[in-house]
Amino acid sequence: MKPKRRWNERTRLILTLEFAVVLPAAALVILNVWHLNQIRRDRAVEAAIQRDFTQVLHISEKQINHKVFALADDVRNEFPTSGEACAYNLDRILSSYPYLAHVFFYNPDKGFVARSQPFRMKQDAAFRNEAAELAKMGEGWLSVDHKDVAEKIIYLEKKGVPPYYSYPYWVPRGETKAYQALVMFVKKDKSGDEPSIGGMVFDADYLQKRFFPDVLESVVSRNLAEGPSDHQAVMMIHAKGESYPLVASEGWDGGPPEVERNMEAAFPGLTLAIKLKGTTLEALGQRFVRTSFMILAALSLLLAGGIVLTYRSVSKEMALARLKSDFVSNVSHELRTPLSLIRLYAETLEMGRLTSPEKYQEYYRIMRKESERLTALINNILDFSRIEAGRKEYDFRETDLRELVRNTLDSYRYQIEQHGFDYEEKIADDVPPLRVDREAMARSLLNLVNNALKYSQDRKYIGVNLYRDNGSVKLEVVDHGIGIPQQEQCKVFDKFYRVGDPLVHNTKGSGLGLALVRYIVQAHGGVVSVESTPGQGSKFTIALPVSSGLSRAASAQ
Ligand code: ADP
Repeated sequence: MKPKRRWNERTRLILTLEFAVVLPAAALVILNVWHLNQIRRDRAVEAAIQRDFTQVLHISEKQINHKVFALADDVRNEFPTSGEACAYNLDRILSSYPYLAHVFFYNPDKGFVARSQPFRMKQDAAFRNEAAELAKMGEGWLSVDHKDVAEKIIYLEKKGVPPYYSYPYWVPRGETKAYQALVMFVKKDKSGDEPSIGGMVFDADYLQKRFFPDVLESVVSRNLAEGPSDHQAVMMIHAKGESYPLVASEGWDGGPPEVERNMEAAFPGLTLAIKLKGTTLEALGQRFVRTSFMILAALSLLLAGGIVLTYRSVSKEMALARLKSDFVSNVSHELRTPLSLIRLYAETLEMGRLTSPEKYQEYYRIMRKESERLTALINNILDFSRIEAGRKEYDFRETDLRELVRNTLDSYRYQIEQHGFDYEEKIADDVPPLRVDREAMARSLLNLVNNALKYSQDRKYIGVNLYRDNGSVKLEVVDHGIGIPQQEQCKVFDKFYRVGDPLVHNTKGSGLGLALVRYIVQAHGGVVSVESTPGQGSKFTIALPVSSGLSRAASAQ
């Protein structure tokens, strides 16, 4: 068998530390830094989007103004001068520009003329009311305020902006109201004359069904076509102070807008609004924070797990170190006792002071027994260190286990009975030959029998059973000794482990025997187990697989 390199406990501990603590901790630190940067970046992105939106609204408003003022320019250019301002001329304008609902003209000397779309005046009573209202309101207002209005418009012209004064003109439409834009301009006749004021009212239906939808689609496609594809920006127009959209671009899905802008120049009383489709900037930020916190929580859990794992590994290491130091004192004691006994008896023999031949025999026997004990202990230690270093080589040969068990225990039986034990051996006939390492198997059996001897008090009984059980061969060593508490049963196979019972401590031992048995049995593809009741006794069972044991043994050769 090729010597196997095995990781020692320290390497395992270092790896545990690295993988379970250092790596997650490093990941946590990196993630935190990344997270902070990301938050900073996210805030910056949020601010940039806000800025972008403000910019888009500014540009969009300009484009909308440009369009509406271009329409107004057409009308203004065709408007009659005060001398020509009569119903006929105004009606002509209305028929050329069907998007106008009403037009009017005011001259301080000649008074106020207003006309409304003739075809609607015929059909629509509400429209007739609206026209009458406008005529009344317009006349009253301009006769008082026309100077103010004219000054404002002239001031705008001087500033280089479109010379129009707009006014929100809401009109009733059934249960609701509709928005119309009343746009006024100055019409100068001859220099020196007081300026006249012309006006037009853009029709509500035209604005809401044609002008605003067209203009929104065009500004969206011109200004927002390059936005992020997963969250497209969408726009709408609503009345100031209300949230319900008057007109919205395609894909508007409700919810609060991110940025708004009042369209004071051309459409006072209306607000242009923009948002991200399907989400809000706040929700985007929150989603990022949520994911980050989840990752942080997962990493923290991993770290906590790593710390627990390391704590357990360190405790195990410490326990092992304690066990090792116990082992050293136990082993040195165990080595010294037989050696001093052998020396003592050898010296006595050398002096030739013994009288009877029986005494000689007894001394020889004690010396043989003690040296056997010494050999067994040294063999255990050597075997154990070879296994630990991965240098143990097994010599698997087809073996009759019945004969192996009998031969191993034959030389031992005398000793067992000498100690006052009842010894019972049950070996079944149907046990098939298995490929095992004879010496290693014999050592395992001796370790179990030796323990049965050591850990029995008044009820001195040792039973050894060998039989076939389905697919395996079982070798049992039974005693009626002190037994092992339930919670210790899985630990007794650990190296250096000894049950913390005063009875055990008064018995010589190194804590290596059962660990060795387990190593050997595992190398044979088998398992060793224990059933025990404190005060009643124990049963150790080695189970070797019949078929796999053979093949494993064969392949190991
Ligand atoms: P030791 O050299 O201490 O006997 P082992 O590895 O053989 O080392 O056994 C480990 C521990 O298991 C022993 O210290 C003892 O506490 C317990 N033990 C082993 N065999 C028996 C048994 N037959 N009855 C009771 N306790 C046992």
